[in-house]
Amino acid sequence: MKRYTFSTLLLSLTLTCFNPINQTVYGQNMSKNSSRSLQINEKTLNDILERNKAFYKEGKVADYIPELGKMQADKIAFSVVNENGKVINVGDINQKFTIQSISKIIALMIAVTEKGEKNVFSKMGYFGTDKPFNHYANLETTGKPLNPMMNAGAILTTSMIDGEGEIPFKKILEMVRYITKNNSIDYSKSVYNSEKETGHKNRGMFYLMKNNGLIEGDEEKLNNYFKQCSIEVTAEDLAKIGYFFAHQCTRFDGDATYKNPEISQLIQSQMLTAGMYEFSGKYSRTVGLPSKSGVGGGITVSVPNKIGIGVFSPALDEHGNSAAGYHMILDLVKQYNLSLFQ
Ligand code: GLN
Repeated sequence: MKRYTFSTLLLSLTLTCFNPINQTVYGQNMSKNSSRSLQINEKTLNDILERNKAFYKEGKVADYIPELGKMQADKIAFSVVNENGKVINVGDINQKFTIQSISKIIALMIAVTEKGEKNVFSKMGYFGTDKPFNHYANLETTGKPLNPMMNAGAILTTSMIDGEGEIPFKKILEMVRYITKNNSIDYSKSVYNSEKETGHKNRGMFYLMKNNGLIEGDEEKLNNYFKQCSIEVTAEDLAKIGYFFAHQCTRFDGDATYKNPEISQLIQSQMLTAGMYEFSGKYSRTVGLPSKSGVGGGITVSVPNKIGIGVFSPALDEHGNSAAGYHMILDLVKQYNLSLFQ
């Protein structure tokens, strides 16, 4: 009887491990690596960082926001949150930088949670773009922003978050703190002031949208956008944000307070189509993963149902995306066959 039980157990184990039906049981994409843990480790990340760090020389640190221009161009960091929620960091792991446009995915999550996707997207499109992040000419023609990843749509998105004064910004800050489980995160007052003093193009978009009846209220709403862009993070924080959206808005430690597959699907689809601005199409071809960049030099990547990736290197390419950051992501993606289109 005992032997019978043992062999039954063996048989069922064999079936569990090798039966292709498991692919549908667990609803996973069973491409080469997804059936087992990726096992990305510190050495892998270090090797990739070393191979790609010189790419920063092909980029330039953003200085159209004067405060950003102070960042040292050769700083670099690379982080991954593995499938089990474990964090791996290499490079300048304590280096803080401003989150910039990566904050747009957090703002979108909050606005859609409060107002509903239909309402939010009645004021803007789901379009991809062939234009840079600060393009706004379409506000004169169609009257609506192309998507919530470019500045116009992002300024509008933040203006839709409920609350007077800086409450919408505080909600974004608190959400970043929650996702990263890092309560020390705050915004840089000097970057905020620098953005506010020089962000005339963003101010122009704000007033065009006000003119078009899309925004109500005064410039405090625009200031919330400037503040959210000035939130300071590390590459590790970005990897945790990537993991969060890759896992239906479940945190790296398993906390499921905000679990919402609809929202994570929406955010990741926007990241894929417009998260890297006019480079998004080519990026889909080479990297093939939902990603969001910021002019502070960060990129956050979600590998759906698997890992989160965060990179930092402040020198940007001509599209405003981190040059070395892109190459580190591409190297990792090739090594582990992580593209969605593998
Ligand atoms: N704060 C920046 C701006 O509004 C954000 C742009 C970005 O990161 N692409 O210009």
